[in-house]
Amino acid sequence: MRLSNRKSVWFIALLLLTVNNLSKGQVVNKLKIGYINYYFENGSPLLWNIENDTLLKISLLPDYQRQTLNRQTDHWYFSIVAAKGTRIRMTIEKMVPDVYNGRQATDWWNYRTGIPCYVSNDNESWTAYKTTTLPGRELYCDFVMESEEVWLARLPVYTTTHLNSLLTRIKGQNDVRILEIGRTLENRPLEIIQLGNPKAINQVVIRARAHPWEPGGNWVVEGLIEEFIKENPKRNLTNFCFAILPMANKDGVVRGMTRFNTAGMDLNRNWDKASDSITCPENYALEKYINMMIKSGLPPALVIDLHNDDKGDVHLAKRDKGDTGFQSRMQKLEKLMREHTSFSESFRYSWTGDGQSTVMTIDNGLYSRYGLEAFVYELNANRITGLNKVPSADDWKETGKGLLEVIYCYLEK
Ligand SMILES: [Zn+2]
Repeated sequence: MRLSNRKSVWFIALLLLTVNNLSKGQVVNKLKIGYINYYFENGSPLLWNIENDTLLKISLLPDYQRQTLNRQTDHWYFSIVAAKGTRIRMTIEKMVPDVYNGRQATDWWNYRTGIPCYVSNDNESWTAYKTTTLPGRELYCDFVMESEEVWLARLPVYTTTHLNSLLTRIKGQNDVRILEIGRTLENRPLEIIQLGNPKAINQVVIRARAHPWEPGGNWVVEGLIEEFIKENPKRNLTNFCFAILPMANKDGVVRGMTRFNTAGMDLNRNWDKASDSITCPENYALEKYINMMIKSGLPPALVIDLHNDDKGDVHLAKRDKGDTGFQSRMQKLEKLMREHTSFSESFRYSWTGDGQSTVMTIDNGLYSRYGLEAFVYELNANRITGLNKVPSADDWKETGKGLLEVIYCYLEK
């Protein structure tokens, strides 16, 4: 459903009028829902209700950060069971506002480009539907059931089932090794997919899915790995080795969480010190692996951390403004990303002495403690500006293919 701004104002007015009239007892078709199911892997904790017999109201529950009042709700994934042909009028809201850095958010879904809702009739292929942000800070979505069960999600879903299927497909291929580097809090294996020559001079570490609501990085990694396997025999790239942690926050993904691990730790914070192996084994394992690389004399030349947000920028670690070598390297990287991927947003620099406090994300931690070059790539969750469309899993796989070329060109001397 696509609506222009003016149309959407009328539409919201009409919707509110309808809901208002319904409460006065006018006769309308009642909405018959068989069931709302979220009891599956990555299903989001939620409450649901049918208001005025006509409007399905979904209220999403947050997950919480340890030792703060921070909480975040950005993930949804559930299915609706209803007769084929049923028209679903639905709102999605956060049960409580987010809290970030101790402050309660006033703008719940304040995204400039609008938020798509992904709908699937087979729980596999996803179509993006446009939502409308209502004055009550709810998202409104309206569609007709094309099968007896329809799945809805914030983004194209990627679960451990997808990951396990990838691991099965690539296992035993030339120059592919799968290493277990540790276990999550809930004892799930943390795999590193190693591609290429382990003794290569150009070592690259890539992490995806530190935050469970952000599957974009998983699709990027799939595209990159598939391209590597396809291209590797032709190119004989013995100078490269990739160590990819494809799903850093597995427990959070399985439980349908938004941001933290099940002990309330944010895997993209607190990188100014070694991670606690008890509350944050996911980061502990990754850092141990990176330490091993450093000790063996082959430290990563580049560390890439893949995320989703509503902006799509690349965030660089805080550096000294006098470091011209760094600036020219990043200009080269930016140029390559614009050439080989759909990236069209901005490279965000931050400088020591700029008066801003340093958030200890992975890039800042690995640079300040080990001198490693690292960046966070926030894939835009709502719109691929460079392609002028909402993202699909295939778009992100293409980004992964392009990113492989970017890395080759960037590190080749
Ligand atoms: Zn993130």
